[in-house]
Amino acid sequence: PYTGPSAAEILQKRKEFLSPSMFYFYDKPFFCVGHGDSLNVVDGKKQYLFDENGRRYLDAFGGIATVCCGHCHPDVVQAIVNQTSRLQHSTILYLNHAISDFAEALASKLPGDLKVVFFTNSGTEANELAMMIARLYTGCHDVVSLRNAYHGNASGTMGATAQSNWKFNVVQSGVHHAMNPDPYRGVFGSDGEKYAKEVQDLIDFGTSGNVAAFIGEAIQGVGGIVELAPGYLPAVYSTIKKAGGLCIADEVQSGFARTGSHFWGFEAHGVVPDIVTMAKGIGNGIPIGAVVTTPEIAQVLTRRNYFNTFGGNPVCTAAGHAVLKVIEREKLQENAFVVGSYLKERLNFLKDKYEVIGDVRGRGLMLGIELVTDRQLKTPAKAETLHVMDQMKEMGVLIGKGGFYGNVFRVTPPLCFNKEDAGALVMCCDNSLAADFLVDVMDFTLSKM
Ligand code: PMP
Repeated sequence: PYTGPSAAEILQKRKEFLSPSMFYFYDKPFFCVGHGDSLNVVDGKKQYLFDENGRRYLDAFGGIATVCCGHCHPDVVQAIVNQTSRLQHSTILYLNHAISDFAEALASKLPGDLKVVFFTNSGTEANELAMMIARLYTGCHDVVSLRNAYHGNASGTMGATAQSNWKFNVVQSGVHHAMNPDPYRGVFGSDGEKYAKEVQDLIDFGTSGNVAAFIGEAIQGVGGIVELAPGYLPAVYSTIKKAGGLCIADEVQSGFARTGSHFWGFEAHGVVPDIVTMAKGIGNGIPIGAVVTTPEIAQVLTRRNYFNTFGGNPVCTAAGHAVLKVIEREKLQENAFVVGSYLKERLNFLKDKYEVIGDVRGRGLMLGIELVTDRQLKTPAKAETLHVMDQMKEMGVLIGKGGFYGNVFRVTPPLCFNKEDAGALVMCCDNSLAADFLVDVMDFTLSKM
């Protein structure tokens, strides 16, 4: 049993010693409504988390942030323990086999000539590096990213990120935010080519005619599980190539088998990027990110000394390598496809039942449920989203939230999520959406205004 500090004690220390910018779910002030208390998780196993009292929760969100193989997968834990007890060091200075073994294994998962890997500690670092490589290679500075994107929070990536929630007073040097090819909310609906034509306009009228790169997620994660309109990526890749730019696929959320049909999100669009970035699930909770590109493009980094003290260190790369093996041995990509398709179908039944569900979308185990108070106007149902999320937590199911308006549930569990788990999630979601609950929450919210 857990004998550490209680949630209340942790909160007290956080208040005093941690940055007030750190947010967490299930906190009354943060969420405004609901009666949930913040959650103190102390143990994890497979797709489950356990709180300080030993109560079990189905983790239907953590897959994206940390874990793809399941919490504390024994093979990954063992790989970390073995390597830690033998040697942990920087990647610079000396040789060690862990980094090259993982690089080789990772390269084998990528198409075309994408086989040169540079490891980082996070997704932000990976995208910063990718944009720098593109700028060096092309000699251009302009980068096109999509509105509603999230690419990181250092200066360059915060510039590429396109949601005011995540931006400070950043110098957005050279970044152009293109219209988002969002089939649900975008002005051209599902017509991918029309959005791509806008990018040509943006290049013609907003740049010298040449650009360094296009950076995009195959499915926007933080933005609320937004899939790109069909036909968009191939069209925009060709536009960017004509303008001399490189195409960067940010696979931080959509990579590593999550979308089920493919190992990488971009593969579903039939394109091959020039640079692929990844992080999060790649280490199953261990901080590691990577940039993969072609030998020719990678050459630009030899012009000066470029290094990263811990990027690709022995422990993190041992973990990453173990993750790849688990995904393959346990057929987690197939599982993401089968369970994700089943879950999406069940969620679509819920959409037929509840007017408040405006859209169900995503692929594999990267699904989004958008709540609206009016299906025609698509008015974001923010209060309902918070309430349902809170209710589901009370029932033992943890889901995420995202989208610019905070009205999209994000379902991104560890890839070992099974059909029973999917059934439990749908049942709890169904119960939480039941009309009387929502009437209650609306009354509650309105009475507070
Ligand atoms: N790209 C995407 C698509 C992301 O979702 C995130 C993190 N939410 C990042 C990059 C940045 O990753 P990190 O937080 O590891 O820096």
